[in-house]
Formats: sequence, C-alpha cells, structure tokens
Amino acid sequence: SLKSQGFSRSSIVAEGSPALGMAPARVRNLIGGEFLESRSESSIDVINPATQEVVSRVPLTTDEEFKAAVSAAKTAFPKWKNTPVTSRQRVMFKLQELIRRDMDKLAMNITTEQGKTLKDAQGDVFRGLEVVEHACGMATLQMGEYVSNVSRGIDTYSIREPLGVCAGICPFNFPAMIPLWMFPMAVTCGNTFILKPSEKDPGASMMLAELAMEAGLPDGVLNIVHGTHDTVNSICDDEDIKAISFVGSNTAGMHIYARAAAKGKRVQSNMGAKNHAIIMPDASAEATLNALVAAGFGAAGQRCMAISTAVFVGGSKPWEEELTKRASALKVNAGVEPGTDLGPVISKQAKDRICSLIQSGIESGARIVLDGRNIVVPGYEDGNFVGPTILSDATGDMECYKEEIFGPVLLCIQAESLEEAIQIVNNNRYGNGASIFTTSGISARKFQTEIEAGQVGINVPIPVPLPFFSFTGSKASFAGDLNFYGKAGVQFYTQIKTVTQQWKDVSTQGVSLAMPTSQ
Ligand code: NAD
Repeated sequence: SLKSQGFSRSSIVAEGSPALGMAPARVRNLIGGEFLESRSESSIDVINPATQEVVSRVPLTTDEEFKAAVSAAKTAFPKWKNTPVTSRQRVMFKLQELIRRDMDKLAMNITTEQGKTLKDAQGDVFRGLEVVEHACGMATLQMGEYVSNVSRGIDTYSIREPLGVCAGICPFNFPAMIPLWMFPMAVTCGNTFILKPSEKDPGASMMLAELAMEAGLPDGVLNIVHGTHDTVNSICDDEDIKAISFVGSNTAGMHIYARAAAKGKRVQSNMGAKNHAIIMPDASAEATLNALVAAGFGAAGQRCMAISTAVFVGGSKPWEEELTKRASALKVNAGVEPGTDLGPVISKQAKDRICSLIQSGIESGARIVLDGRNIVVPGYEDGNFVGPTILSDATGDMECYKEEIFGPVLLCIQAESLEEAIQIVNNNRYGNGASIFTTSGISARKFQTEIEAGQVGINVPIPVPLPFFSFTGSKASFAGDLNFYGKAGVQFYTQIKTVTQQWKDVSTQGVSLAMPTSQ
C-alpha cells in the first residue's frame, strides 16, 4: 500500500488499490501549506519499474493552481526573509533529524518509484541530507563583507539578500538528493520556493515536504506543483519567479536556460554527461576493477556521474576478462530484493533506447563482451531490466559514444598514451566528471592539469564533492555560472547589496561637484 511506501494521508488523495480495481491515488500539490488535490483531469501514471504496477498518479497542474502556488510563495516571502537566520537554520536542524528518522520510509518510496536498490536509495537520501546539514551553517555562509574607512569616515559593507520566489525542476534519477540540493539552500537563505518534482517519481519530494513542514517551515515557504512541459514553461515565464535550479537532460536544460534567461531570471542548469575513466597500465588492478564495476553499473548506470567510458592506456585486453567476470557476477533484481546490485531502469522507453544504442554500437564495429539485453529476472518478468553490458573497441564517432546512454553500459576505448587518452576525454562535449587510475603522481598531476572536466577524480571513480564545495560540472554538462550548493549555491540564491555609509560631521566641507575619490 502507499502507506507502507511511506506516504501519509496528507500528500495523497486517497489510498487507492489497483489490485482491488480502485484507481491509484493521486499525488497532491502543496500550495500555501496545504496538500491540495488538483482539479486537473489529466495525469501521468507513476509506475514501479520492477513490476509495472501503477503506484500513484501525478496531476498536470492547472494554470490557476500554478499561479496560486506562486502567489502563496510571494506572500510568504517578506515574513520569511525577515525571520532571523538562526531560526531558519533551526528548521534545517530539525529537518535533518526528521530525514534520519524517516530514512527507511524514504528509501522504500524511492525503490518503489525509481527502481534502485534500497541501499542505494538510502545513499540518495543521505547525499541530500548532507546538503541539509550544510544549510544549518547558513549564518556564516551568508555573511557579507565590511571595509571600514574606505574614505575618511566612510565605510562600505555588503549584504547577501534572498531573491524572492525561486523554483526547482528535478530529474527522475535522484528523487531525494536533487530536491534536497535545491530547496534547503534556497529557503535557508530566506527565499520561498516552488518545487516541480520529476513526474516519474514524485513521492520522495512529497515526503520531504511533509518533513519540512513538520520541522517548522512556515506555510507557503515551500510549494510543490506537479506536471511536465507546460508547468516548466510556466515556471520559466512567470514574472514573480526570480531564479531556477534545473537538473536533467540537455534538451530540457538548454530550453529552460534560454527561456528563463529571456525573462531575466538567473538559472543554474546541471545536465547530461559522458564520464570517462582513464586507466593507466600502472594502476592498482584490484581497486581499479572494483571502482569501474561500481561506478559503471551502480544504480543501473542512471547516475549523472556514472562512469560510462573506460579509456585503457596501453590496451584494454589485459583488463577485459577480469572486468567481464566481475560485471557478470552482479545480481540484477528488483531493488527491494536483498543482495541486489542493479535494479531496473526507469521505463520501458528507457530500456528500448539503451538497447538500441547498444545495437548501434555493435553495428558500427564495437565488440560486445558482455550483453545484458536479454536478461529475465524470475518473479519480475515485466521489469525494465538491463544487465551489465560491456562494449569494447568503441570509437569517438560511434552513436553509443556520442550519446549519453544512461544505462548499465560501459564502453571501452583504447589509447596509446596518456596524452591521447586526455585528448579523447577533452574532445567529448560533456564535462561533468573524469577520473584517472594510476600509481604515478606525475600522470595524476598531468591529468588534473590538462583534463577538461569540472569534477576530477584521482583513484576516485565518482568525484562528487561534498556540500561545502559545489557540484562543478562544466562544458555541455552545465549552463550558468553559479553551481549547486557550497559557496556558489549561496551566491546563486542571494543578491548582493553593497551599502556605503558616512558618519562624520560634514557641515564644514562645502559643495564639490568633482567625482568623489577616496581620501
Ligand atoms: P529530463 O530532462 O527528461 O527531465 C527533467 C525535468 O525536466 C523533469 O521535471 C521534466 O518534467 C522536465 N522536462 C523534460 N523535458 C522537458 C522539456 N522538453 N521541456 C520542459 N521541461 C521538460 O531528465 P531525466 O530523464 O528526468 O533525468 C536524466 C538526465 O538528467 C540525464 O541526462 C542525466 O545526466 C541528467 N542529470 C544530471 C545531473 C547533473 O548534476 N549534471 C544530475 C542528475 C541527472
């Protein structure tokens, strides 16, 4: 039942049971502190990717409801902005405690709607929780600067003020972490927020919103509207929304970036990726093989920082056999089953797309050394499963290399030298992450200096920084100039105001019309 997936009654309309012929429950919007059923007649099914069971239905929010959400956020802003930062932080302290309390429920919901394993779902929540912890230190993060006596008796100081209503648009692959990258930072800076969860797995956002309200977040500070393109376009166009945080594909991200920027909004847009690992012949074999298997196939390859291409310097042959052995030992099953390594991919369409990219790789000359396309999982025959797949001898002109596959598929490329390997990575349009595996400090330092990727790993496969740094994808993986969380995240959600004050007796100075200069 939905209750066992962690929903309370407030965020869903009714506990429907498809098994009993009842319509599945509709997920509610959150507007001005109330979980409201949408009047919209259109909705999208949220489908359990392991079973095809319809978990719930997501409404396509009406324009009127969207406007009501923005209006609630706008109304809540002045009071929230003037709430002491220490009080805003205290809501985050409480929220982190409640997320910990409900960790298992959140994870179960993520596994049900998104498909990843329960352990991985806990990691999804945990990486978001770390951003909530980071937001607990907002008073220090939001501090301004002060220079006394910039001229005699005159001081200048800066204040970081919240922007007003901000919005977040989320992808399906991290149903808890990505909403938590967004609204905790935004609201603790003093903004109010409109969240649009992924229509594929909105449940975790709803549970997090309930927890935020239980933690004491006032009505209207966090609002949730569901929908797809139309809702996203309304967010881009609305005059009262000042900033948009987006995470998802390049198609949506670049559209949102352009459309929202045309309305004068600031946008941070984290997008697609093709993350490479360069494996030097001197790398420690055991650690490197484990890292490649974990980062290539974990979460069924549906992480924006998954390693999808391994570049073997000196040839892949010595590595291939062992890599294949380890990858084929991974257990593919529903995420709720104990011992599962990989769950299903998000949808039937995603599975078809992944399989056709594998096929196009084979047709253009790649060697398939492990084929996960025809896997059948007993008990879950309808699930969207793709087993670990390895394509060797891939080259830069292949479709499967140029496109982000976003599935459990590892491409292997050969390079003669570190220089050539770096060139391969730098020629790729994306720049989310890149890693090197080596025992040579000289190679590692050369890689770090010359590689064109925003997040660099040295013997670390998925180098996502913790929230006191920022998530720093580059090239086609990011649009905007202020990244998510960390100092940049605070800058994104605040506008700087500088004040110059004069406190001296100026009555004797007379009038001068010359440009004032510091004296
Ligand atoms: P997606 O772009 O399909 O959807 C993301 C959001 O945008 C959803 O809320 C969706 O409703 C909306 N949307 C989709 N198409 C739209 C359009 N044409 N116009 C307006 N709105 C639209 O992405 P997804 O499939 O949910 O997520 C997977 C993608 O996200 C991958 O490309 C992955 O690399 C990327 N991703 C990137 C990061 C990062 O930090 N760089 C993190 C996670 C995921």
